[in-house]
Amino acid sequence: MTVFHIHIQGIVQGVGFRPFVYKLAISQGLNGWVNNTNDGVHIEINANKATAESFLQEILDKLPPLAVVTSATIKPVGDKDFKGFEIIQSEGKQKPNLLLTPDVAMCEDCRRELHNPKDRRYRYPFITCTNCGPRYSIITALPYDRPNTTMDKFKMCPVCWDEYNNPLERRHFSQTNSCPDCAVELQLYENGKITENFTDLDYIVRQWNKGKIIAIKGIGGYLLTCDATNKKAVQTLRERKHRPVKPFALMYPDLESIRQDAHLSKKEEKELKSIHSPIVLLALKKHLENQLALNEINSGLTRIGVMIPYTPLYDLLLSTFGKPIIATSGNITGSTIIYDDKKAIDELSEIADIILMNNRDIVIPQDDGVVQFSKESQQKIVLRRSRGKAPVYINPNLKFDKDVLATGSMLKSVFGFSSNGNVYISQFLGNTETYDAQVNYEKTFEHLINILKPEFKAVVTDKHPDYFATRFGKEFARKNNIPVYEIQHHKAHFYSVLGENDLLQSNEKILGIVWDGTGLGDDGNIWGGEFFLYENKQIKRIAHLPEFDFILADKMVKEPRISALAIFHSYKELSEIIKPKFSKTEWNIYQKLLQNPPLKSTSMGRLFDAVSSLLFDNDLHHFEAEASMRLEQKAAELYYKNNFDLSLSYLKYSSRDNFLYKLIKGIISDINNGLDRKLIAVKFHLTLVDYIRQTAGKLQIKHLAFSGGVFQNALLVDMIIQHLKEKYFLYFHKEFSPNDEGIAFGQMVFLNE
Ligand SMILES: [Zn+2]
Ligand SMILES: [Zn+2]
Repeated sequence: MTVFHIHIQGIVQGVGFRPFVYKLAISQGLNGWVNNTNDGVHIEINANKATAESFLQEILDKLPPLAVVTSATIKPVGDKDFKGFEIIQSEGKQKPNLLLTPDVAMCEDCRRELHNPKDRRYRYPFITCTNCGPRYSIITALPYDRPNTTMDKFKMCPVCWDEYNNPLERRHFSQTNSCPDCAVELQLYENGKITENFTDLDYIVRQWNKGKIIAIKGIGGYLLTCDATNKKAVQTLRERKHRPVKPFALMYPDLESIRQDAHLSKKEEKELKSIHSPIVLLALKKHLENQLALNEINSGLTRIGVMIPYTPLYDLLLSTFGKPIIATSGNITGSTIIYDDKKAIDELSEIADIILMNNRDIVIPQDDGVVQFSKESQQKIVLRRSRGKAPVYINPNLKFDKDVLATGSMLKSVFGFSSNGNVYISQFLGNTETYDAQVNYEKTFEHLINILKPEFKAVVTDKHPDYFATRFGKEFARKNNIPVYEIQHHKAHFYSVLGENDLLQSNEKILGIVWDGTGLGDDGNIWGGEFFLYENKQIKRIAHLPEFDFILADKMVKEPRISALAIFHSYKELSEIIKPKFSKTEWNIYQKLLQNPPLKSTSMGRLFDAVSSLLFDNDLHHFEAEASMRLEQKAAELYYKNNFDLSLSYLKYSSRDNFLYKLIKGIISDINNGLDRKLIAVKFHLTLVDYIRQTAGKLQIKHLAFSGGVFQNALLVDMIIQHLKEKYFLYFHKEFSPNDEGIAFGQMVFLNE
């Protein structure tokens, strides 16, 4: 009888694909087999052409919930008679060609079983199924089968083994399958002692209630937790973690309890409940029902980072505790999240009173992802792409015909590569100025290369010679004797948003508005307030923020008051306002420096710093972009209550003089008139929107694409959409963050062009 061979690629492993095909084949009485290999799922069936094609169509129509298909082919392969239908053993000889499945938050079916006293997995903290549980974080090789995961060491009990082999069970071929009889076990570390097979979860809840700090191993690593309503506990956590100001994320028991404290839109709710289950930044309500230790958590910011339990363990703990906890990455501030148990004991016991470990090993650490939505237009802004998203990126319109490596940027390190035409983008790997993050970067790189075996033909790096990622890329190219290319930082940003929005083949002129803190420009200066033109597949810098003096290098980035000085010092009125921010000695030294500044800059991030320092005395950064966030918040408090429009722009009165001059003159006049500082902050934001409008107008460009860390500013994004959407086509990032996390993808796109 004729045999048809079907080959399906995409996210098809660790998602219950084989059992799904099996059931479908059985229900139609088809004979043949299905397997899982390094390059996807293969199926062979006895059928004529029409039946085989309709079988494939039905597969594609009914896919399991987590599956994503990027390609499916069908062809006749001779004659053979199959008896029945079976799932056959996976083999893995060819070069891997499939997408890795990200880690998936606990599904609703498992949640129900977890809380059902009659279920055999009642209150089992490691319940999973084919639709949920860890994947990327536990995989050691391909194809995704139990021996290629850290579940390998757990032998299934007879009941689990039956489930695993029974095509009618929802855990058929569930590689993470386990139960209380063949359990992943918890260990408790306290006072230098380890308790094996720890099961008393109420003990953890009691310790939270006593104000203890507890490190808990989750999917991507350890989180540091404590009662978010206990001021003293949160303060203690801050002190021990040496993190005085930067906001902490919270984990609430469920959506209902979040609604007690924060506003929750439909989109925000959907994002929280999604399989990625990230941290979502939410606007706080005026009246909080939970007695949050707000000052200790958020230092005056009005948005809080919130998530819901995405593992059964967190779900059990939080549903008993009934209140929000602090849930922040378990690391020494600035370093990579800790995921190894021994390291947790060595390093986290300085911070945590108790460490709750488990014996399911994590192969690759990942932080929680972070997302926000702008208030008015509900535009999604990714702030950190990590657990639940990495390491896949799917875009059928983007074809890579050779394997290339892009090494990314520095403060928000991420690398990306193509292999067999698939695109892989690593999780957020932190600031590779630190040794720890460098080690993690290399480890993650080696891990993915070992699994996917790309054959790189080229490497692309940032232009900045001193970035770890640049050195890493150059060294890799040298060792492998392949060419290495460079792309300027902000151009890579632009390529990133172009690639994500399928604009590379566009016949229209596209204006790239790339605004961020710092990036080395083609002329050796510090860029960051850039307008680029994309036309005939070329990128050209056509405008930029007027240059200002850049002094003191990193110190200027860390101290907004220095940006204020560098940008405003030649305006006498402002100089007087700024002067008290410095000691006499500082003032004299900096004045001298400004007479002969080493560099020029066009950084929009520094302009935000300067204005924030000038208007609200946000003079020092306790964490990245703090001054900008506080400026945004002040403006947002007023903006959303009023119908302000671009008539408030400082640019409207005169067509002479440059942007910066008009902006500063406008601010001076408003300060002199005693205008509400919040209104000046609104006007500053609106002036930037007007700056974009006027620049696009002058150049007669209708298509505007936005990238760079400044577009994490949700207020600015709302204003752009509100005031420019009528006349312009607007493109923002979708999957990737506008910040430097998106650079690696942009570098890849550049090389592919
Ligand atoms: Zn499940
Ligand atoms: Zn079992």
